Amino acid sequence: MKSKPHVAVVGAGAFGGWTALHLLEQGARVTLIDAWGPGNSRSSSGGETRIMRGTYGPDQPYTDLAARSLKLWRKYENRWKIKFLHRTGVLWMVSNHDDTFERGSPALLRQAGIPYQELSASAMKKRWPQISFSDVHWGIFEPECGYLDARASCQAVVNAFVSAGGAYREAAVLPDGLEQPPLRFVTLSDGSRLKADYYVFACGPWLGKLFPKTLARIIRPTKQDIFFFGPPAGDSRFTSEHLPVWGDHGKRFFYGIPGSDRRGFKVADDTRGPAFDPTSGERVVSPTTLKRVRDYLAFRFPMMKDAPLIESRVCQYEQTPDSNFIVDRHPQMSHVWLLGGGSGHGFKHGPALGEVMAELILKDGEPCPQWRLPLSDDLRRTRFQ
Ligand SMILES: Cc1cc2nc3c(=O)[nH]c(=O)nc-3n(C[C@H](O)[C@H](O)[C@H](O)COP(=O)(O)OP(=O)(O)OC[C@H]3O[C@@H](n4cnc5c(N)ncnc54)[C@H](O)[C@@H]3O)c2cc1C
Repeated sequence: MKSKPHVAVVGAGAFGGWTALHLLEQGARVTLIDAWGPGNSRSSSGGETRIMRGTYGPDQPYTDLAARSLKLWRKYENRWKIKFLHRTGVLWMVSNHDDTFERGSPALLRQAGIPYQELSASAMKKRWPQISFSDVHWGIFEPECGYLDARASCQAVVNAFVSAGGAYREAAVLPDGLEQPPLRFVTLSDGSRLKADYYVFACGPWLGKLFPKTLARIIRPTKQDIFFFGPPAGDSRFTSEHLPVWGDHGKRFFYGIPGSDRRGFKVADDTRGPAFDPTSGERVVSPTTLKRVRDYLAFRFPMMKDAPLIESRVCQYEQTPDSNFIVDRHPQMSHVWLLGGGSGHGFKHGPALGEVMAELILKDGEPCPQWRLPLSDDLRRTRFQ
């Protein structure tokens, strides 16, 4: 291999943008391509905010990855003098009788060095009287976590990438021929060809369309409706001044971000919605989901019962069968990497995942077992032969 490999990264969302930046910083020549631009409204990294947390249950690689990302978010915030992470704290409420997930979390948080407190229901009631904790058994509070600016940070990453000498192109990579080895170049929507030593496809919910044979059954885009409710005038009880970011693990999982940038009180149901086409899907929220979220709001935040809906948005998860990411080489092409499957929790990990990805490519490493493609043993044994 030449001393400076050329890597083409397709997709400038949270996964591709950070990967491109780390590859560049680690000495590669990098071309980053995106069809509609970093954090565009169709992408899974679009919209204003995402939660940063370390609570992830037992036996998983994500708490450590979140700890590394926390360090990197801070490093790049300092370097670029831009604030991405709003450290409001994250409160995880346990309203489910089965709390295996939460009981498995503190040991990993401790190990990873992410500060946390275990709180009783009475302690939470005292601290946040705006919340009704009637059925909540206990909680985990992560004081140094909070919410991240989503599309703004994607744009900042691409700006930094370009300033550091990376090449960015706004064009679509055409899907034809991507799965026919050997991939020697990709064709762009302007008719040009791009040739590289390695290709990273970080195309979020589009990955199944680009690699139907390998990924259509593994990454499924699901429609997710997000709602913003308006608190009463002059009332700061439902802004981040007085409330942390929260997650409520009951029969369903609801989560919210209180009043970032005066957008209102963001609430969503994490339940996976119907299949959704990220290119042509109409982004209109469903009345059924709105009703469910409203009922929940009235129950958990009774003072917000009559709050009007002031904004809504539709995004999509790029859901894998077990919610683990996909970070692996294409089964037939060792120079083609597939990076995605964020499954509704990928954004926070962008900085650390990009770092991992850059090392995998440049040091010819092996990805974390949980992130590999679910291939049959036979196919795994014979790939690249
Ligand atoms: C409603 C919602 C809430 C979420 N909440 C959280 C949260 O609180 N915390 C958290 O950590 N994560 C959260 N996530 C998940 C997280 O946002 C995603 O996992 C993450 O943003 C995925 O990033 P990505 O780079 O893989 O995909 P994307 O952001 O979709 O990026 C893919 C990019 O590829 C480009 N592209 C696609 N096809 C082509 C092509 N052919 N040629 C060129 N470019 C192409 C697209 O334009 C796009 O910009 C949430 C997601 C949603 C939808």
